[in-house]
Amino acid sequence: MRYVSTRGNAPKLSFEEAMLTGLARDGGLYVPNVVAPRRQDEIEALPGMSYEEVAYWVMRPFVGESFSPEELRAIINRAYAGFAHAARAPLVQLGPNHFLLELFHGPTLAFKDFAMQLIGQLFQAALAKRGERITIVGATSGDTGSAAIEAFRGLDNVDVFILYPHGRVSEVQRRQMTTPTESNVHALAIDGTFDDAQARLKDMFNDFTFRDEVKLAGVNSINWARVLAQVVYYFTAASSLGAPLRPVSFTVPTGNFGDIFAGYIARQLGLPIEKLVIATNQNDILHRTLQTGAYTKSEVVPSISPSMDIQVSSNFERVLFDAYGRDGAAVADQMDDLARGGFTISQGAIDYLRGHFASGSASEAETLATIRSIFETTGEVICPHTAVGVKVASEHLGATPMITLATAHPAKFPAAVKQACGVDAPLPPHMADLFDRPERVTQVPNDLAALEALIRERRRP
Ligand SMILES: *Cc1c(COP(=O)(O)O)cnc(C)c1O
Repeated sequence: MRYVSTRGNAPKLSFEEAMLTGLARDGGLYVPNVVAPRRQDEIEALPGMSYEEVAYWVMRPFVGESFSPEELRAIINRAYAGFAHAARAPLVQLGPNHFLLELFHGPTLAFKDFAMQLIGQLFQAALAKRGERITIVGATSGDTGSAAIEAFRGLDNVDVFILYPHGRVSEVQRRQMTTPTESNVHALAIDGTFDDAQARLKDMFNDFTFRDEVKLAGVNSINWARVLAQVVYYFTAASSLGAPLRPVSFTVPTGNFGDIFAGYIARQLGLPIEKLVIATNQNDILHRTLQTGAYTKSEVVPSISPSMDIQVSSNFERVLFDAYGRDGAAVADQMDDLARGGFTISQGAIDYLRGHFASGSASEAETLATIRSIFETTGEVICPHTAVGVKVASEHLGATPMITLATAHPAKFPAAVKQACGVDAPLPPHMADLFDRPERVTQVPNDLAALEALIRERRRP
């Protein structure tokens, strides 16, 4: 399988090349050149398989020649061995026909671990074979950074720099990034928002001299291998509830559009997903876009679900590419307009998007009320991101089972949980001393030249 850029003007790459490259050289995102549906009898055979076996079945055709079957199986097994639940992504029932998919049993307690643990193993295997070193730079609204640091800490061939918005991540998220002691790990607090961090990251990728000099690689959700890892749990969850013989629906707390895009891919592979619902917090650009057909940036307003405080959802470009009939030039034009503030989606493209996605948003008050009511009616304590999903899902319940993705453990956001329902959400035992460990962080300006100078100086030659 080959990978093409959403802007139509970059070389076609193999899986391994696309994974190591991240952002395409024309500024676009890599997507598979075809996503063909799988055979129905193969999908019918999924119930009863382990998470790792389903992962292998999902990933194998996308990986192509890049890794042998044995290598890929070993990589998948290593990636999920550290998860604290035998099912990896267990389902719990929340109410009549409404289920929660718990994606927070990985090492940093958020769903990002599913992708990042896999990417860590894939990078290590690929770089060892090639005898190469790389510099990973990531921008995070909180959870990606900790998951990346956890996946890459101590690896010989990799230096990791994580940019997070200063003062805008939760204390647990910050400490997960600033307390690892390995010398290849660098937490950078940028003076700005997540969108600023992401913009500087894109600038670094577009500075080809710098990019080649430090062998820059990206692990943000723009990386196709991350999307691929996330496709797996849509299959395991749906097949537990009777798919493909019975359709299911999903609601996904959404920020950068990576997780829900994985659901869209699962549907293209033949999983009968009836509704795929985008749930946003008060930063509701995606919800408004579906309603109005206009994608218009505004200011990010910090919320109690900070991992979704985003105005520019990178992965949205991937679905736009399909909505525009895979016309890279059309996508490139729209992205130029976005840099100037926004664009209007063509009628054909907005019809496509409305045919594939439903949407809704939750205010801060609604998020808190949902945490409280779920605690009162089920005893489950949910994180604020999950609560946004549960609130929006409640507007889409019906005869089809609804699965809401529980994207983080409540202990990552204890202040919001306490405020909502008066409950302390303790960290699991292996993290209980997080607040006692010393922190190591560098504060950096929102300035490309300064960031590049710092990375040049700190990376190991
Ligand atoms: C990253 C994240 C999200 C948003 O996921 P996207 O793939 O960026 O849409 C939602 N909830 C939590 C807890 C996250 O860490």
